[in-house]
Amino acid sequence: YQREVQRAEKLRIVGELAASVAHEIRNPLTTAKGFLQMLYGAENITREQQKYIDISIKELDQSNRIIKDYLSLAKSDDNLLEVIEINFEVHAVVEAMSSFALMNSVEINFNPNVKSVQIKGNKSKFKQVLLNIIKNGIEALELTPSGRIDIYTLEDENFATVQIKDNGCGMTETEVRDLGLPFYSTKKEGTGLGMMVCYKIIEAMGGKITVTSKKGIGSCFTIALPRSM
Ligand code: ADP
Ligand code: MG
Repeated sequence: YQREVQRAEKLRIVGELAASVAHEIRNPLTTAKGFLQMLYGAENITREQQKYIDISIKELDQSNRIIKDYLSLAKSDDNLLEVIEINFEVHAVVEAMSSFALMNSVEINFNPNVKSVQIKGNKSKFKQVLLNIIKNGIEALELTPSGRIDIYTLEDENFATVQIKDNGCGMTETEVRDLGLPFYSTKKEGTGLGMMVCYKIIEAMGGKITVTSKKGIGSCFTIALPRSM
């Protein structure tokens, strides 16, 4: 038992450290990118030098994406237990994603259950899960002409459930199995950290993510969270 407490404490400290490091790294990255962009536009700069600057900016962007996907896992208000009003938070994330959806010609429909369910947990982490899954949905719709994401909230006696469906590219059985493996990504600019973070957060909340998918048809992500927490 003592060992477990020590392990939990260590994980907490590492988490807090990672959160502050991630935060401190983002600012200098932004500064560096700004100066590189300035250099890029300078007079008498050669094609070759421009290429190097371009590569540097891309690398900085990738570092930034890794921190973004990863940051929530390391948020320092780790043990904060808040009342989460599921419908309210889903609505907020859908709003926040609306411009990204519009940019990608994706329609998001939220169908809340009539009775809004409350659970307890860390609000910002719960929202990070919704955000990562909806973002993946939008990205999976890149080549779908009338792409849409349908979101449902449901509940039964024991679980509050959020379902996120897309009619995007879908996945094979093997691809579904690999979901959540660190750095598993099929995207050119993916980090492969988004789903890993989602699984870890929901697991820590005592919940479960189930995925069903068909290649070329679409995917459905179901997040079930225990109501008695
Ligand atoms: P990333 O988005 O950076 O690639 P994720 O961990 O968020 O990393 O996702 C891992 C991989 O899972 C993606 O690269 C993609 O291949 C697959 N994936 C996730 N969500 C979907 C989805 N809704 N439809 C199809 N494939 C998906
Ligand atoms: Mg992702």
